Amino acid sequence: MRALKELPPDVKAALRGARDSETDPTGRVLLDIMAENIAVAERDTNLVCQDTGTVVFWLEVGEDCALNLAKVTAAVSAGIARATLEHSLRPNAVHPVTRQNTHTNTGRHLPVMHYEFVTGSAEIPGDALKLHCLPKGSGSENMSFLKMLIPADGVQGVKRFILECVVEAGPKPCPPTVVGVGLGGTSDLCTALAKKAVLRPLGSHSDDPVIAALEDELFAAANELGIGPMGLGGSNTVLGVHIEHADTHITQNPVAVNLQCWAARRSSALVTPDGHVTYGF
Ligand code: SF4
Repeated sequence: MRALKELPPDVKAALRGARDSETDPTGRVLLDIMAENIAVAERDTNLVCQDTGTVVFWLEVGEDCALNLAKVTAAVSAGIARATLEHSLRPNAVHPVTRQNTHTNTGRHLPVMHYEFVTGSAEIPGDALKLHCLPKGSGSENMSFLKMLIPADGVQGVKRFILECVVEAGPKPCPPTVVGVGLGGTSDLCTALAKKAVLRPLGSHSDDPVIAALEDELFAAANELGIGPMGLGGSNTVLGVHIEHADTHITQNPVAVNLQCWAARRSSALVTPDGHVTYGF
């Protein structure tokens, strides 16, 4: 519920920065409306957007974490069902053929759960678990793309595909967007990495300098497209381009793009063995 009602500070700062730099008068009006939307949601403890999305969780599991992940997964699912009922959230989860609604925002393979094992760090102690919640609205999730490039396509092919995705998406993902990119790996890993990229705070960069430079180049290029806030024209089409990469096969170079709307919702919870929970974004 925190994720749905309060945007992370980095997202709010990026939207304020976009408002200050926007060259199009209509774009400025739309960014003002987004700021008002955020303020009203915080003031009234209400939803930032009516589409509470498909719930995606990314779990960073410390290498010495003793928690039972099957029970954690069951608890996450129970929490989503409880939130849906107690807060009257729109039930979004349906069967893909019959369209029968589960009414809980959970179901077969929902919520989407990703697990990653991490070595201990100042941010995540080795015996801790960090859960990242990503409510993913359908307007932006429908703007997801995968292309199995080959090495001969080169980095130019990677750049072209990412920018073509932003153009094809146009107004549909409610820009300005966060562009999550997965690069390398296999088709499934690449797509998951694109989702992980969306979770990164705005202003962060890849720890690989080659990839970080590509993020900056694509950020500047995407904002030259003129799509603008809500696709009505302007100089702010994207708030950031984040790339998560993996090594890949000698004959492959898959690229996945996952767009996140201006309502870039996310929240986190760090659970330590003493039972303490630290909430964040
Ligand atoms: S894409 Fe985002 S802002 Fe647009 S309707 Fe969906 S959740 Fe809301």
